Amino acid sequence: MAAVVAALHAARITQGEEVARFEQAVADYVGAAHAVACNSATSGLWLAYRALGLVAGSWLWTSPNTFVATAAMALQCGARVRFIDTDPASGNLSLEALQAALEQAERDGTLPRIVVPVHFAGRPCDMAAIGRLAERYGFDVVEDAAHALGARAAGEPVGSCRYSAVTVFSFHPVKAITTGEGGMALTQRADLAERMVRLRSHGVVRQPAQQQALGGWHYTVEEAGFNFRLTDFQAALGRAQLARLDGFIERRRVLAERYRKRLADLPLQLPHREDDASCAWHLYVVQFADSAIRRQVYERLIEAGIGAQLHYVPLYRQPLFIGAGQPEDFPGCEQYYNRALTLPLHPQLSEQEQDRVVTLLAAQVKSICDATSQGGSMPEQGVV
Ligand SMILES: *Cc1c(COP(=O)(O)O)cnc(C)c1O
Repeated sequence: MAAVVAALHAARITQGEEVARFEQAVADYVGAAHAVACNSATSGLWLAYRALGLVAGSWLWTSPNTFVATAAMALQCGARVRFIDTDPASGNLSLEALQAALEQAERDGTLPRIVVPVHFAGRPCDMAAIGRLAERYGFDVVEDAAHALGARAAGEPVGSCRYSAVTVFSFHPVKAITTGEGGMALTQRADLAERMVRLRSHGVVRQPAQQQALGGWHYTVEEAGFNFRLTDFQAALGRAQLARLDGFIERRRVLAERYRKRLADLPLQLPHREDDASCAWHLYVVQFADSAIRRQVYERLIEAGIGAQLHYVPLYRQPLFIGAGQPEDFPGCEQYYNRALTLPLHPQLSEQEQDRVVTLLAAQVKSICDATSQGGSMPEQGVV
């Protein structure tokens, strides 16, 4: 708050010094050469897609298990969207499904211009494998890392763009750090950074040589952009938040581990894996035996004032994407969608609050088990 107030006392309150400092801080944190701050991750995705030349008629492929913006920004570019099935355990893009779709598309001449892996719940996709496919099939990769600031993929921070052209972060209040609203696009490529900077601010270009010749007021506009700028006081908040990021993630990790211990004996699938250390724990998602049980547990938690949630209704089920496939085309995503529930997980969650979630959930599952014990089935307990 002190940082925000100080920024409000500065001579300039929208995009200025503080934005530049915040960009540098995030670029340093993830190891990227360039950072372009903007007013949301949604804007950042649009900037990335446009800078990479996504135009009418071209294809963007992504996961259906994501927030609508990932795919909607492709529609805003006039492009076509194809969804690739997800892994039912992690909710991330299925590499097998991606490989199969690429082989088919190569035969049909419908290869994508851009593929967008979403690091769902803060667990990174296999970027090295996606990078190999990008090389083989000639598409660009944009990482939707709205859940994954602070996560690591293949030993590197998400955002280093080792296997992608651009990585986009969100600073919406539910994400790892916040600027109220805000986002950032990271890249190693100067040409992409330059174009994103231009598109972020109306497509305006100021060239010193031209200003010298024609007058200092001169600028040139060659393509239509937007006003996607972040304010300096938001950037000041972002930089103060970034200093606390590792602590936030550590707290999420401790709480995730607590969930694991306390839920271990219930007939649930838990999200833990060997690569837990690389996960930013944006969401804690458990999976039930079926959608009826999930619904009952959800209702019980909501009734008790607990913010359970489902991430996400698959995008092919939204009217906006009619024509982009039927549920039966996505068995992995459907399985996940029918069984998943997100439990509260954030740095301010107290252990007492977490225990209350666990107690209510356990009681509800137990009462369903008892009611169905004459022949109903529950899944085997365990960890995915
Ligand atoms: C939050 C989110 C976005 C959009 O972020 P905004 O900053 O709110 O625009 C995009 N993709 C995913 C996966 C998200 O979770």
